[in-house]
Amino acid sequence: MKYVGAHVSASNGVFNAPLNAKKIGAKAFALFTKNQRQWKAKPLTEDEIEKFKEYCRRENYSADHILPHDTYLINLGAPEKDSLDKSRAAFRDEMKRCGQLGLKYLNFHPGTHKKMMTDEDCLKLIAEGVDMALAESEGVTAVIENTSGQGGSVGYRFEHLGALIEMVEDKSRIGVCLDTCHTFTAGYDLRTPEAYEKTMEQFAGIVGFQYLKGMHLNDAKAGLGSRIDRHHSLGMGLLGWETFKMIMQDPRLDDIPLILETIDENLWPEEIKQLYSFQ
Ligand SMILES: [Zn+2]
Ligand SMILES: [Zn+2]
Repeated sequence: MKYVGAHVSASNGVFNAPLNAKKIGAKAFALFTKNQRQWKAKPLTEDEIEKFKEYCRRENYSADHILPHDTYLINLGAPEKDSLDKSRAAFRDEMKRCGQLGLKYLNFHPGTHKKMMTDEDCLKLIAEGVDMALAESEGVTAVIENTSGQGGSVGYRFEHLGALIEMVEDKSRIGVCLDTCHTFTAGYDLRTPEAYEKTMEQFAGIVGFQYLKGMHLNDAKAGLGSRIDRHHSLGMGLLGWETFKMIMQDPRLDDIPLILETIDENLWPEEIKQLYSFQ
């Protein structure tokens, strides 16, 4: 079964996320558990936590299909020491928040070395940061998102994702999320059945579907291999509906959250409907 949803708003309380997801006909959702542009957040209150759990139960969202995203400020591969320390602390805090909410995953962008060190050294730093966070938390899996490779960010090659998994100690709590826009702009084609299959086979060989915990469904404004991260609404970008039809018909992508991060949220109900029509 396919679980399609979107990255919905959690403003005025995390417990609003499942309600917002329900309104657009989603069977899965993503959210920020805190303001995504601030380092510090007030701790979650007992009341907020209870309400979140209750609404998820009531609206039928299980933790298997909820993919929280960390704040954009966190850079586990930061070349500067204070930025790295700050990022590691914030990441640990986000893992804790997810645990408190009864969630299983925390989706994060691996990080950027800002062209101040090699990809390899940056990946080592990231794996170290993930290990630290996993050691201090329980039950939450760190889910690495592949990137476009824009501006010195790592994670644009499947080999980077494979290397991170290899380096992280607890393999039972590390996973990946494939973003279709990032995959394409990083240089992996998804537009024709042949290209799609070739990319998925590469992923299977280098990373493995057992580590795939979710996907972000976005069309792309920038071209194949452009290394530019610019999302578009489904069917309006360079990928086109055909890609998303193949995804909806791919049994390897059953039972994981498939999350829209497309640019026009007014289109989300339509996009979700259209995706389900491909089944
Ligand atoms: Zn994404
Ligand atoms: Zn993106």
